Amino acid sequence: MHVVLATHNAHKVLELRRILGPALDGIELVAYDGPEPVEDGDTFEANALIKARAAAIHSGLPALADDSGICVDALGGAPGIHSARYAGTRNDSDNVELLLTNLEGVDDRAAQFACAAAFVVPVDGAAAAGADSNVERHEFVELALWPGRVATERSGAHGFGYDPIFWPDGGSITSAEMTSEQKDALSHRAQAFTAIMPIVRARLLGDTK
Ligand code: IMP
Repeated sequence: MHVVLATHNAHKVLELRRILGPALDGIELVAYDGPEPVEDGDTFEANALIKARAAAIHSGLPALADDSGICVDALGGAPGIHSARYAGTRNDSDNVELLLTNLEGVDDRAAQFACAAAFVVPVDGAAAAGADSNVERHEFVELALWPGRVATERSGAHGFGYDPIFWPDGGSITSAEMTSEQKDALSHRAQAFTAIMPIVRARLLGDTK
């Protein structure tokens, strides 16, 4: 059973294969190679569904997608859904620098990583590749949060994005100091996909592994 993963990022395909392990038995994740939709939703859930819907319509296959970011309490939830482009350059280091600057002198550094995982499946396999958006679909979305704080300086060399300045609650290291196994056991992305996979398996394979 093929499922399209709506990302152009090969690292995400690898990361999800690693996170999901046996939950992918009987499912082949294939990378999406179609046009990127405009992500104009107001929430992580809306944007994840936009990406999964576009991939399902383009390929005619069931599709998975995610949308994620970091939400900082003292900034009213910013950068939130704008995390990837916070500094305007799409560069991780610039984003980190801007967040540290915006939190200079701020004591309340509470923040959370958020990830929405979306699954869109054409009803009865009815969609042909390229079918229009009127084809009947079932849509599911799961949101997961990973609470922590924003550090005052970078540390750690693993991960990506805001990992060097994210201090998960309950530990004393940043998520960039964690091994991938440590991060996978806790992360917002792992939690969101772990929550949606039973739905995927039930729909496609009739089980709840
Ligand atoms: P997207 O989910 O591909 O739209 O990316 C969202 C952005 O949020 C990324 O470019 C990162 O800046 C940030 N982000 C999401 N998840 C993580 C994570 O696990 N670690 C660090 N940064 C993350």
